[in-house]
Amino acid sequence: MLRDWLDTTTRVLRDLPRLRQHIQPTFRFQDVRAVDRAFLARHGIRGVIWDVDGTLMAYHGHAIASEFGPHMSALFGDTTLQHAIVSNCDETRFDELTRILPDAALIRLYDAPGGPVTRCVRRGVDSLEPAGPPNALAIRKPSAALILASAEALGGLGAEQLLVVGDQHCTDIASANLAGVRSAKVATYRRNTFPIIVQLAQRLEALAAGRR
Ligand SMILES: [Mg+2]
Repeated sequence: MLRDWLDTTTRVLRDLPRLRQHIQPTFRFQDVRAVDRAFLARHGIRGVIWDVDGTLMAYHGHAIASEFGPHMSALFGDTTLQHAIVSNCDETRFDELTRILPDAALIRLYDAPGGPVTRCVRRGVDSLEPAGPPNALAIRKPSAALILASAEALGGLGAEQLLVVGDQHCTDIASANLAGVRSAKVATYRRNTFPIIVQLAQRLEALAAGRR
């Protein structure tokens, strides 16, 4: 699992000069509880694309952090809102997340020979669009295509109706900006649960974003 994070970290650091102009979020919050129904209604947001590790729970956590649980249950239970989960995790962690977060649409985008294939798992229903076997190469944040595929999986919501919520400038926030979607940056939840190398990369991207 760590290898997945190292791959992403290496790629993000290499792309930092290019990404740097795309890493400022629309909103900054301490944690996900600021993204409540009143906030979403005020900004005309009908679909939220959530990062997981460091946003909803600690690194490779097995449940939504207890202090965020009631808040997230209320949001996931609101039938006027749609929720997607987009994580840069590996396949094992993805399958685990489908069990941890059954009420959201878990989205994965694969770089298949015939063009991108979107995998969506929601309430136990696992679908591929277009149908057919993907190859193993998952497209990761900061891909704009991944955010747009998520919007499509949420019933074709427009960019102006979406919000990406995450704790990383160079993946979560950059993917939103590249897709023309608003974003909310939250402080990394339980940063000390992340591998040291990831913590260092987080520090570097925070500096690149002008944060200390
Ligand atoms: Mg994260």
